[in-house]
This record gives sequence, structure tokens and C-alpha cells, in this order.
Amino acid sequence: MEIQRPKGTLDVVPGESYKWQHVENIIRSICDKYGFNEARTPVIEHTELFARGVGDTTDIVQKEMYTFDDRGGRSLTLKPEGTAGVVRMFIENRLFNDAQPTKMYYLNAPIFRYERPQSGRYREHHQFGIEVFGAPRASQDAECISIALELFKTIGIKELVLHINSIGCPDCRKKYNEALRAYLDEYKTELCPTCLTRLERNPLRILDCKEQKCKDICKDAPKILDSICDDCKAHFDELQASLDSLGIEYVVDPFIVRGLDYYTRTVFEIISTHIGSQGAVCAGGRYDRLVAQLGGSDTPAVGFGLGLERLLLVAKNQGIEFPAPKAYDIYIASLGEKERLLSLRLAAELRAHGLKADIDHVGRSIKAQFKYASKLNVRFTGVIGDKELENGMITVKNMALGTEETIPQSELHKYLAN
Ligand code: ATP
Ligand code: MG
Repeated sequence: MEIQRPKGTLDVVPGESYKWQHVENIIRSICDKYGFNEARTPVIEHTELFARGVGDTTDIVQKEMYTFDDRGGRSLTLKPEGTAGVVRMFIENRLFNDAQPTKMYYLNAPIFRYERPQSGRYREHHQFGIEVFGAPRASQDAECISIALELFKTIGIKELVLHINSIGCPDCRKKYNEALRAYLDEYKTELCPTCLTRLERNPLRILDCKEQKCKDICKDAPKILDSICDDCKAHFDELQASLDSLGIEYVVDPFIVRGLDYYTRTVFEIISTHIGSQGAVCAGGRYDRLVAQLGGSDTPAVGFGLGLERLLLVAKNQGIEFPAPKAYDIYIASLGEKERLLSLRLAAELRAHGLKADIDHVGRSIKAQFKYASKLNVRFTGVIGDKELENGMITVKNMALGTEETIPQSELHKYLAN
């Protein structure tokens, strides 16, 4: 039987990767403008990092992680999100000794979650994410958001809505959790089983439930923005003033609470109406307590994760065309063994001049070689026969115009570069 890829994973075949590369190039150039450098962390981390960092009441830790014991008996986990590993890196490499803030991004990080696969939801997906350490002001939150929006804009993605909220600090959240619990206690018999367990340990998470019944119950629940403290309120005001200053539109959405325990104050999602229910393409917020929680010193931080498969899905549904890879400058057909060796050398010389060239490695007839070349949409074709072996010339055909010219082989690179 043919072996298939694991459920919930995707292949990027070579003919499709240019779309990913286009997005990656844009990401790198935007991040550079904002002064973010790339960071890379391992795909595996100690399981404890996520239990402590992401929070053991979260869906991720409770039911979505790929956890295994390695041959040495250590419990390791395939990265289920990007932030915890980056925070570990920040602490372990003493990056807090550098001039702060520290700004970094990660690109194409594979993320593993044992979820029910569906369109826009996979067991392995890839994220572009950014993290900033040591910048407490909300203007930084706004700048992070503007990085994501600039990416979407540059790609040409439209009709996205930015939802923002503040979930306060642990102090105001404690007060809010009590009010929320008191309200939800009345609906104990109607909540879904998962929310029932959340009610005791983390009622805030119920606001994030995807079950319609729980959503209906939450509609009239007390709103966290009504109970955040003055400092958190001022921070949220500064966020809105910063977004206004950047001309970024947003909606304040009290139901954005995020599924991870580490968030404080700012939380946000960028949502597309073009990919159905898995609409969040980017999500993030502030996590001022996480560095300390993982053993570092008190360091405010903010960031986001952006799902690249979802971004590409939105782009596809909006009919966005990506710039196709550059066509071959020339395909050099050849007639026999000596001729093949000459075409091999000519192609190598052209590549040394930065040109894109191909020759026959199959042993096809001349006719079949030309047929192949036209399928590749090459700019020019050339032929090496016994005459060309002797006189050092080559006849090249411009495929778009149908015109031919005979030039010295040594001039070929200049001819093609024009
Ligand atoms: P959702 O509410 O859709 O489950 P999430 O809150 O779990 O998303 P985050 O943990 O914030 O998502 O991850 C950041 C981004 O990564 C999401 O906004 C989304 O674009 C993408 N993402 C998350 N889970 C998946 C998945 N299973 N498959 C593909 N992309 C995903
Ligand atoms: Mg999720």
C-alpha cells in the first residue's frame, strides 16, 4: 500500500513553494524595517516548558500536544506554539543583558497540535511570529499589530477586521473571574462539559468557547473592560490612541480572551471573513508575566502568531496571484554525447553569470527536447549540433517572437542578459 502523509499535515510541492517564498520575502523585509531580527528555536522542547508557560488549564496542554519520551526517558513535546520557546531562549541566552527592547521574529516555525483536521486547521501548521521583550508601553503593541497588517496589505489581502480587548492584569482578572463565575453558576446545567471544568479553574476561557450554547450564555455575561484597574485601563486607552495615530481601524471585542494563560492586558485577533469559521489569521497580545513565570526577571513582552496556511488560504479565496518563479533564460538542446558535454559546460558558464539555464539529461530526441522546453516557457532555446561543436557559434531562438540569431557561444551570456 502507498504510504500517505499523516492526517492533518500538508505537502508543499515544488511547484507551489513560490507562494510561500513570496510571503517569506515580504515578512523578512517588513521585519527588517521595524528592526526585528530572526530567531530560531528547536522544534522539541521539554514538556514542562509548555505546562508551565502555556498553562495546564489550556486546550493546548490538556489535549493537543504531541508529547513523547525520548530514548533517555525525557519527556519532550513538539512545539505547540511559538512564544514559550522564544521566552526560554531569551532567558537561557541572557538576552536581557543586551540593550532593551529585544525584538525578534520567527518564520515558518512548524507548530504541532492534535486537533480535528479541517480546512484551515491542521495538526502541523506554520507560523510567522514576533516577540518584543522589555517594551511595556502600548505603542509597542500597536506597532506589532501594524506589522501584521502591513504584511496582509503588501500581499493584497483585504477585508480583515482587527479585534482588540484588554484582559487586565492578574489582579483585576481575579476580581473579574469572581463576577464571571457568579454569573455562569446560574447556567451550570447548560454549559458544555469542557466549560463546566473551566468554570472552576479558569472561567475566562468560557468566553472563548466555540459551542453555540456557551456563546449564547456568555452574551450577557459581565464584561472584563468594566472591571480592569486604572493602570490597565490607561494602557488600553494608550493602545487605542496609538492605533488611531497609525490610522488603524479596530473593534473593541470583549469576547477576545485568547486560549493561552500567559496573556495580560492587550489581546487581539485579526479575523478574515473569507475562510469560514477558522477565521483568525493572526492572534496575539501582551504577556508581561511570562518571562518571570519561566524563571527570568520581570520583563514585559508582547507579540503575535500568524498562521501561514490560513494566510495563503485567504489569499487564494480572494483570488490573489503570486509572482511566478522566473522562467529559464535558455534551454540548450543537444544532439549527441560530445554535444551534451558542451551544452553542460555552456549552461554552467551561464549560471556563473547569474542566468537560469537547463539542458537535456534524459536523452530525448531533439524534437522531444524542444517540446519539453516550450512546456517550461523558456525565454530562449539553443541547439548544439556537430557544426556548433566546431565553429563555436550557437543559434538561439527567441520563443516569444519566434526570431533566430546565430552568435558566438562566448557571447551567449551577454546576449541573454539583454
Ligand atoms: P483558533 O481559535 O482558530 O483555534 P488559536 O487561538 O488556537 O486559533 P493561536 O494559538 O493564537 O490560535 O495561533 C495563532 C495563529 O495560528 C492562529 O490565528 C491561526 O492563524 C493559526 N493556527 C492556530 N491553530 C492552527 C491550526 N491547527 N492549523 C492551522 N493554523 C492554525
Ligand atoms: Mg486553537
